[in-house]
Amino acid sequence: MEPSMSPKTATTAGTTRSLVPSDAPTRLLVVEDDETIAEPLITGLQREGFDVTWAPDARTALEAEPHDFVLLDLGLPDLDGAEVARRIRARSTVPIIVVTARGEELDRVLLLEMGADDYVVKPFGLRELVARVRAVQRRVTQSCGDASPTGVSLVTLGRLEVDLRTRRVSVDSIEVDLTPKEFDLLALLASDPGAVFSRDQIMETVWDEHWWGSTKTLDVHIAGLRKKLDLSGWITNIRGVGYRLDPTK
Ligand code: CA
Repeated sequence: MEPSMSPKTATTAGTTRSLVPSDAPTRLLVVEDDETIAEPLITGLQREGFDVTWAPDARTALEAEPHDFVLLDLGLPDLDGAEVARRIRARSTVPIIVVTARGEELDRVLLLEMGADDYVVKPFGLRELVARVRAVQRRVTQSCGDASPTGVSLVTLGRLEVDLRTRRVSVDSIEVDLTPKEFDLLALLASDPGAVFSRDQIMETVWDEHWWGSTKTLDVHIAGLRKKLDLSGWITNIRGVGYRLDPTK
């Protein structure tokens, strides 16, 4: 069993929340036109315990029943994969991992803005893919808190409004333009106002479970958030521990 699949919980100021979904198998939609890629991929994913449906083109993908997770090849015969991502995202918050071919122009920010949660580049290993799927699932589960999968997920904290479904943020009803990471960071802090999130916990949730680099990037993003939100004093640094969002300030 992969370490990333073991049950895990995070404790924040009196609440314990499971970071992994329930035990029911994840219903995964694989959108891939190349049968020589799809076939071994599906077999491998099934072996990992996923309940997999194959969509060989965009039309089938868009007509498919709702799934828990979408793995989306960008190069599809009938419609651009990016457009498929946008159409799925327009009606659902289902996590999407985009699959791109090496050499395809790749703008990560653009991918995230079209609604993708992460991406993998072909050729990729099954272990890498499964680890990414699990990481996205944990991240989504945590940052959405108890929001329903179909979507009412608006967090209102005084002057601040965070819409987890559309990923929009506003202060005093004026929309604030955040980068994807700034948004994820804010969504995490806002999921439990007043609670202190440790640096490790933030890095694991917002960046990567295997993050091993400097955590300076966290402080840079916090500084960016503070500046853009202009809610002086709301985001507090707890020395030697981490950060919290306190809307009572
Ligand atoms: Ca393809």
